[in-house]
Amino acid sequence: MHTASRAVTPTVTPIVTYSGRFAPSPTGPLHAGSLVAAMASYLDAKAHDGRWLVRIEDVDEARTVPGMAEHILHTLQGLGMQWDGEVVWQSRRRHLYQAAFERLHGHTYACGCTRREITDSRIGIASDGAAVYPGTCRNGLAPGKPARALRLRVPDPLQENERIVFEDGWLGTVSQHLATEVGDFVLKRADGFWAYQLAVVVDDAAQGVTHIVRGADLLDSTARQIYLQRLLQLPTPHYLHVPVVVNQRGEKLSKQTGASAIDLEHPLAALREAADFLGLALPPPASLQQFWSDATAAWANLTKSALGRSAQ
Ligand code: GLU
Repeated sequence: MHTASRAVTPTVTPIVTYSGRFAPSPTGPLHAGSLVAAMASYLDAKAHDGRWLVRIEDVDEARTVPGMAEHILHTLQGLGMQWDGEVVWQSRRRHLYQAAFERLHGHTYACGCTRREITDSRIGIASDGAAVYPGTCRNGLAPGKPARALRLRVPDPLQENERIVFEDGWLGTVSQHLATEVGDFVLKRADGFWAYQLAVVVDDAAQGVTHIVRGADLLDSTARQIYLQRLLQLPTPHYLHVPVVVNQRGEKLSKQTGASAIDLEHPLAALREAADFLGLALPPPASLQQFWSDATAAWANLTKSALGRSAQ
């Protein structure tokens, strides 16, 4: 064996084992509700010395509002939230969704049902308020019925993956029975756009995302996404769903419910409000930099203590 006669200093390449992301849909400006999701994902990444990626989820081009993505990015920067790497745009990645769809061959089928026909079937209402798909087109389209959407077949009772169970970093153990609570779900919509469920799974894997921190309004989608990851043989990231900000009428803040854009004239006020909502007790910050350093430490404590149960 040959040994070097002089000491060589090894070059140490830091291994980033945490990649988080914020994935806004550019349908409206960043508001108090979306800031909470952005902040939680940012703080979790910083508390783990990880990367924080930003992906613009403009796959639903019908709902995309021109200029909103740039507005959101500008607001994040104004709040001192700098992302790592290049921003990823879903509208430029359709070929990847098509390739993933092709890999799901044998699990998918064309569906000719209208929204009305599905609602009228009254098979059940999923927790996100949509009707559970009754499986009408599972064994082929009825004669004369044109294909509208492409769906993924969920497991029948007693099949593997019938119930998807996962540990959520905030909520503990969560489970969903896909057949009765969701039904076969859409991968390509009747309007020709790829569905969020497929795009998000493809992109999270392609970007090497290890931790997904987002609002609990998306909790209902997680089991579908885990099922897709299993079929596509992609890793399942850690999930943490933070509470959703609601207005006085109990509605989730959104453009539709009249949420106003974050005011960059007063960035610290907006940040403190979001931090309060997340239960982070912080001293009054003198600067953006101080806010982020205090908030990261407070988040690390919060998730270590109160939320530690799911890590055990
Ligand atoms: N684009 C989604 C939204 O703005 C978030 C998707 C996700 O975090 O998985 O609600």
